[in-house]
Amino acid sequence: MVFKTFLIKYGEIGIKGKNRYLFEEALVDQIRHALKRVDGNFWVRREQGRVYVDCQDEYDFDETVDALQKVFGIVGICPVVVTEDKGFDELAKTCVDYLREEYPEGNATFKVDARRARKNYPKTSMEINCDLGEKILDAFPEMRVDVHNPRIMLSVEIREKIYIYSKIIPGAGGMPVGTNGKAMLLLSGGIDSPVAGYMIAKRGVTIDAVYFHAPPYTSERAKQKVVDLAKIVSRYSGPMNLHVVNFTDIQLYIYEKCPHDELTIIMRRYMMRIAEHFANISGSLGLITGESIGQVASQTMQSLAATNDVCTMPVYRPLIGFDKQEIVDVSLKIDAYETSILPFEDCCTIFVAKHPVTKPNINVIRRSETKLEEKIDELVKTAIETAETIVIE
Ligand code: ATP
Ligand code: MG
Repeated sequence: MVFKTFLIKYGEIGIKGKNRYLFEEALVDQIRHALKRVDGNFWVRREQGRVYVDCQDEYDFDETVDALQKVFGIVGICPVVVTEDKGFDELAKTCVDYLREEYPEGNATFKVDARRARKNYPKTSMEINCDLGEKILDAFPEMRVDVHNPRIMLSVEIREKIYIYSKIIPGAGGMPVGTNGKAMLLLSGGIDSPVAGYMIAKRGVTIDAVYFHAPPYTSERAKQKVVDLAKIVSRYSGPMNLHVVNFTDIQLYIYEKCPHDELTIIMRRYMMRIAEHFANISGSLGLITGESIGQVASQTMQSLAATNDVCTMPVYRPLIGFDKQEIVDVSLKIDAYETSILPFEDCCTIFVAKHPVTKPNINVIRRSETKLEEKIDELVKTAIETAETIVIE
C-alpha cells in the first residue's frame, strides 16, 4: 500500500503546559531537518496535539522511515490512510481495503480502537468499534475479535479527516534535540565518545564537539575518521561544530617536563580545560566524555577525580556504568562501530606510558603541573587560536 501520510507518536511525559509547545516545535524542526536528506517533498504539520508528515510526491518509504527513526522524541511512526468523511459505509469499505492489503492472509485476531476527536460525528466511539468490527468480520470470515491481546489493533481517528492505521514502527525515543540546552562532546576516534554524544543528544541536548589531534604523530586519516564519526552522531543530533585542536606542542611539553607515568592524566586535564573554553564561547552548559569506570588506567575513580578536578562545568559521562559490550551494542545500533574500529592512531597512543599511574593523587598531579608554568599558558592560547572549526551538516 502506498501511504501518503505518517502519524508521529511522541512521548508525553513531562511535556505539559508551555513545555509541550516547545517540545512539539522542536520535534517538528528536527523532523523537517531529518527529511532534508530524503528525496521527496514532505510537509510536516501539527494539529490538535498530533504531528503528521505528508508526502506530496513519490518518495522512498524505507529511506523516509529510516530518517524519522533518527529523530529523538519520536516513539512511534505510523503509516496512515487519510480519508475524507463520506459516511460510515465508505469508512468501513476503506478499512476493509486497508486490512486486505496490509494483512493478505486475512486470519488474524483484531480489535477496532476508534477515537472520535470530532464530536459531531454521528456515531460514538463505542458504536464505531462495534459496527466496524462487524463489517470486518463480514469481509474476513477467518478473522476473530480479541479485545485483550489482538494481533491487529486497527486505530480509527475521526478528526476533520479520518485517519486509519494499525502499524507502529518504533522510533528512537528520547526528547527532540533543542529542548535541553547544549553541551560540548570530547570526541575521539574510539568507540565510546560517539556513543556518549548520541546518548546525551537523545535527551534533547544540542551537541558541539572538540577533537585533539597531534600531527604528525596522528595522521590526516585519523582526523577524517573523527569527522566521519561526527557525521554519524549528527544524523541523530543535527548539525554540529567540530573544533579540531592541534595538541602536539602541549603534549610534547608535558612529555618533556612531567613524570611519564602521569602523562595521560595531565594531558586529559588540558583537554578538559581547552574543551571548557570552547564550551563557554558556544554557550554549552556541560562537557561530555565517553569515560566508564575502570575501563583503562585513566578511568579509575582516582583518575576520573584527577581529571574532573580542573573542570568548572558539569561533566556528563553517560557511559559511566556501562560494560564495554553494552557500549559496543549501542555503537552497532547507531552504525558507528565500523568507523570507530578503523585502525588509525588516536592522539594519546604515542604518548602513553608503559606503566601509567592508576591511582593518581590530585595534589601530586597539581604539583607536577607547576613544572609547566613557563610556557603552558602560551601553548594553550596558541592551540585555541589555531583550532580549525568544521561545520558538520
Ligand atoms: P573513546 O573510545 O571515546 O576514544 P577510550 O576508551 O579510548 O574512549 P580514553 O582514550 O581514555 O578512552 O578517553 C576517554 C575520553 O576522553 C573519551 O571517551 C573522549 O571523550 C575523551 N578523549 C580522549 N581522547 C580524545 C581526543 N583525542 N580528542 C577528544 N577527546 C578525547
Ligand atoms: Mg580513545
